[in-house]
Amino acid sequence: MLNIPEAPAIDGARHLHSGKVRDLYELTEGPYAGELLMVASDRISAFDHVFDTTIPDKGEILTRLSLWWFEQLDDLVPTHVLSAEVPDAVRGRAVIAQRLRMFPVECVARGYLTGSGLREYDATGEVCGIALPEGLVDGSRLPSAIFTPATKAELGDHDENVSYEHVARRIGETDAAELRRLTLEVYERADEIARGAGLILADTKLEFGLRADDLGTRTIVLADEVLTPDSSRYWDMAAWTPGTAIPSFDKDVIRRWLLSPEAGWDREAGDPPPALPAEIVARTREKYVEAFERLTGTAF
Ligand code: ATP
Ligand code: MG
Repeated sequence: MLNIPEAPAIDGARHLHSGKVRDLYELTEGPYAGELLMVASDRISAFDHVFDTTIPDKGEILTRLSLWWFEQLDDLVPTHVLSAEVPDAVRGRAVIAQRLRMFPVECVARGYLTGSGLREYDATGEVCGIALPEGLVDGSRLPSAIFTPATKAELGDHDENVSYEHVARRIGETDAAELRRLTLEVYERADEIARGAGLILADTKLEFGLRADDLGTRTIVLADEVLTPDSSRYWDMAAWTPGTAIPSFDKDVIRRWLLSPEAGWDREAGDPPPALPAEIVARTREKYVEAFERLTGTAF
C-alpha cells in the first residue's frame, strides 16, 4: 500500500530507515560520525497513500520550518539539532541530529477537538482517559490543552491513542510526567505564536528521546521534526467554525480534489490514488509556503 521510493545513496552516510516523507541516515564520517542525518523529501501522503507526484520544495520548507520552531522552543527544552550543515546532495532539506534513545510514545497535545480525538469523544465522552465536557463538536476549543499520547504504529498503520497511565506504566511515572509537562508547554508556546500569524494550532505530535552522558546524567530531549504541517494540524483562524469540518491547512487541496469526480478515484476499491495534476501540486506547494511565511514572518 505504501510505495516509498528507495532512498538515494549519500556519501558519508548509511541509510537506516525511510518513512512516508523522510529518509533517515547515520553519518559514517566527519565530526558528527555516529549521529543522524534526517532528510525531508518532497513526498506527500494523504489518505494513507504516498503519492508518486511530489511537491517541489516541500522537503526544504519543512526542514526550515522545523529548524525555526526548534529555535523558538530552545529555552523550554533541549533539542536534538546539532547542525544544518549537511552534505551537498541534501542541502537545505536535512538536519544533523543527536542520536537518542527514543521514548516509544507519540506525545500529542490537543487544544481543539477533532480527528481521532473527536471519534473517541463521540464514542466515550473521553479522550485518552480524560473526561471532557458534554456538547463538544468537531473543532471545539477545549477548556485547556490536553496530553493525549499514542503508541507508534508500524508503517502504514494508525497510531493508537492510550491513556497517561498506560504511558506511566510503560516508561515510568517520572518520565511520563515530564513528557506530559513538556508537551503541553511546547503546545502553549506554539499555539501563541501561531495565533500571532492568524493560525490555530489544533493539535501537534512531538517525539522525545533520552540523552545519557558519561556521568550518567539523563536528559529528555525534543527530537524528530517539530510543528510542521506534517506533524501538526493548523487551521486558518478565518476558517475556524466549530461544528463544520474545518479544512486542514496543507492537505485540503489534495483531499478535495481526490474526492471530486475529476479525480475519478475509487477510494473504497483500495486502488492507489491517481497522479496529482500540476495545478493541484502548485496550489499545495503554495499552502506549504504560506504556512512557512506566515509563521516565521520571512519569505521562503
Ligand atoms: P511516518 O512518520 O512516515 O509514519 P516513521 O515515523 O517510521 O513513519 P520517520 O518519521 O521518517 O518515519 O522516521 C523518523 C524516525 O526517527 C522515527 O522513528 C523517530 O522516532 C526517529 N527519530 C527522530 N529523531 C530521533 C533522534 N534524535 N534519535 C533517534 N531517533 C530519532
Ligand atoms: Mg514519523
